[in-house]
Amino acid sequence: MDSGVKPRLVVVGNGMAGMRTVEELLALAPGMYDITVFGAEPRTNYNRIMLSPVLAGEKDFDEIVLHTREWYAEHGITLHAGDPVVGIDRRRRVVRAQSGCEVAYDRLLLATGSSPFIIPVPGSQLAGVVGFRDLDDVETMLQAARQGGRAVVIGGGLLGLEAANGLLRRGMEVTVVHLTDSLLNQQLDSSASLLLKAALERRGLRIQLSAQTAAILGTDKVEGVRFQDGSEAPAELVVMAAGVRPNVSLAREAGLHVERAIVVDDTLQTYDPRVYAVGECVQHRKNTFGLVAPIWDQARVCAAHLAGFGHRRYVQQATATKLKVTGIDLYSAGDIVGGEGSEDLVLRDRRSGIYKRLVLAGNRVTGAVLYGDVADGPWYFDLIQRGADVSGYRDRLLFGPALCEAQAA
Ligand SMILES: Cc1cc2nc3c(=O)[nH]c(=O)nc-3n(C[C@H](O)[C@H](O)[C@H](O)COP(=O)(O)OP(=O)(O)OC[C@H]3O[C@@H](n4cnc5c(N)ncnc54)[C@H](O)[C@@H]3O)c2cc1C
Repeated sequence: MDSGVKPRLVVVGNGMAGMRTVEELLALAPGMYDITVFGAEPRTNYNRIMLSPVLAGEKDFDEIVLHTREWYAEHGITLHAGDPVVGIDRRRRVVRAQSGCEVAYDRLLLATGSSPFIIPVPGSQLAGVVGFRDLDDVETMLQAARQGGRAVVIGGGLLGLEAANGLLRRGMEVTVVHLTDSLLNQQLDSSASLLLKAALERRGLRIQLSAQTAAILGTDKVEGVRFQDGSEAPAELVVMAAGVRPNVSLAREAGLHVERAIVVDDTLQTYDPRVYAVGECVQHRKNTFGLVAPIWDQARVCAAHLAGFGHRRYVQQATATKLKVTGIDLYSAGDIVGGEGSEDLVLRDRRSGIYKRLVLAGNRVTGAVLYGDVADGPWYFDLIQRGADVSGYRDRLLFGPALCEAQAA
């Protein structure tokens, strides 16, 4: 790098992880790099999480924009929106975009995220089959909803339920189909899952569990879904929310080490020391990521290394999740399955619709599932993260911090 000339940082992916890293970098070392960002989406960076409230009609797109075009300009960042990077030449240290534009880098940051997994059944390419990942998907869903009609959402995880709720609120008849016998089976135990199912059905959602999709029906566009058992559900819209796949083809073609995702070390560096990666496209110590909390940690560590402060290491932490369906309160944190030697503390109040389960290993809380009353969720999450010894108030743990901390003091 010549003295007097700024090193060039190229960011591939104008999404949550990439831009969070840029923000952290600007805070640590403003003006250190000449920054260029490429984004496949033809728009500026927005809060992807909030696409669910946009679909449900609770927010407008303008309210979820994170960085305006003016922001990029003010920070001297060149943005190529709607122009995906299609090749990386690591020997020449140049990226090439679809438009033919080439930009050289000294440091490259890959933040390409994931794409919805479209189950490869017959008919999955028909018009009217959509994932739930970006604003285009939301617009496709809203257009279908304007005609009324029926939707089938494949996948009863967080994303599928948020899509189903949004479409229901937009006036469609919605059926959620899920492969296993309980909704949100990654986050909830079966008791909480049953409460959730009943609450969603009261709102008008149809839910079909243990249902495996065999084919999407239709000739030019979707007309329905057929299941393994031969039953069918008519639909004009099918939303695939059955998981995501990290976007790794660019990295793989550039010869970087890729397993399920782009392999990075504790500094978010790939096998090429000039190339970093953050977000859903990375694999760190065998794990991949699908929530923003770990991604914010990655962004902080990666920015510190890009800024030349090499003292931070990324350490995976327990995560907590909520379902963004207004009026339904659930919270899940840490390891809710438990293992050998773990114990459960359970509070169940059917009439009030409250269920709480804490998973303990020895004197420490390792997981929490709350339904109906989630006010203490962050407190339990803090106990999990700190590995706090709860033996002094274990008998009151389910009743929350007020009782525990008062007597512990
Ligand atoms: C509807 C919805 C609701 C969610 N709700 C929550 C929630 O409540 N809580 C939570 O923690 N997480 C939630 N998530 C997950 C969260 O949004 C993701 O974990 C996060 O966005 C991942 O950030 P990322 O930058 O890795 O990927 P993205 O935000 O997807 O950004 C990647 C960007 O890179 C672009 N890109 C890909 N390839 C290229 C290329 N070759 N060239 C240029 N650009 C490229 C993509 O178009 C995309 O814009 C939700 C996700 C969705 C879709």
